Amino acid sequence: MNNAVLEDDYADHEELRLAALAAYDILDTPPEAAFDAITEIAALICDAPIAVINFIDRDRQWFKSVLGLDVRQTPLNISICVHAITQPDLFIVPDTRLDARFTDNPLVRGEPYLRFYAGALLRSETGYPIGTLCVLDYQPRELNEKQLSALTALAGQVMTQLELLRAHSKQASLIQELQAAQAELLALASTDSLSGLLNRRAFEECLENELLRLKRNEQSAALIMIDFDHFKSINDQFGHAAGDCVIRNFAELCHQVFRQTDVISRWGGEEFVVLLPNTSQAQALEAAERLQQLLKNQPILELKQQAIFMTVSIGISTLTASCELEASLRGVDQLLYLAKAQGRNCTVCA
Ligand code: GH3
Ligand code: MG
Ligand code: MG
Repeated sequence: MNNAVLEDDYADHEELRLAALAAYDILDTPPEAAFDAITEIAALICDAPIAVINFIDRDRQWFKSVLGLDVRQTPLNISICVHAITQPDLFIVPDTRLDARFTDNPLVRGEPYLRFYAGALLRSETGYPIGTLCVLDYQPRELNEKQLSALTALAGQVMTQLELLRAHSKQASLIQELQAAQAELLALASTDSLSGLLNRRAFEECLENELLRLKRNEQSAALIMIDFDHFKSINDQFGHAAGDCVIRNFAELCHQVFRQTDVISRWGGEEFVVLLPNTSQAQALEAAERLQQLLKNQPILELKQQAIFMTVSIGISTLTASCELEASLRGVDQLLYLAKAQGRNCTVCA
């Protein structure tokens, strides 16, 4: 195999290794007690002044937990651990000054004069070396068999902790997705798909709540029922799709006319009901007149050849503490019927 092929292989492997590390989403996270406990135990068991959990990133080693050193990351060119991750499982340097790879390392030659290194590999679930749990000392030394076993076992604990964190965050994001889907479903279930307004079921729920609220306080609310005049003839003349556009445009118009706190619903085909909390009959009548004025002044739909105008008939009733749902809706429907009987394009109040 020539050098270029080897380099390519190494680059591929390095990218996969970095991806395995990135998948834990641990870099640059704050210190955590669970990891600090592991470095503390490692230092105690190995009787070492320094213990570190570090991860080898693309161009730096980053410490998730560090005991006895005052750094959070160092460049890779002075990292000892970067050598450890090329070794199987345990990497021991009994005396850094006697090892050609480290004699010139500034951390060995100068502050903090590191002389001893023992690192246990942190291996990703997929088998990639992503970092080490290591202990260091200022003098050359060895670790006994028990200490080496303990260091290896603790490295396993670091990985268990990482896997737990990953599972936890996956679970959290799944819960978030589920909640978003539920909210979307709920919105869909309460929305009329053509107009984007509340549907009848959702509106009835709002009305029910408002009636309960009215029983608790002395305020009044208004209920407005609107029906398009001769809508059938718009469908007949311009087609059902144009009729659908009229319904959508009318919903837009309602958003302009009514307040944000008003509850606008598509009650049925070309019938709309609006609940105006904390509103007098006179104020509701003003809103109805604004709506009729707008319909008079601007076409509800503009087709290529023609501007389509439309009128509506409106019934308005007042809601008070003694009102019940069914009767309120029946009442306002009767007022709307009266408006139709009076020749349409008008409003009848209770
Ligand atoms: P009136 O003034 O008496 O209310 O007359 P109208 O034609 O508006 O009332 P009618 O009840 O006779 O007809 C209602 C029409 O509304 C008939 C129906 O096709 C139309 N319609 C109901 N829902 C939709 C819809 O979603 N899209 C379209 N394009 N038309 C609809
Ligand atoms: Mg109608
Ligand atoms: Mg109707």
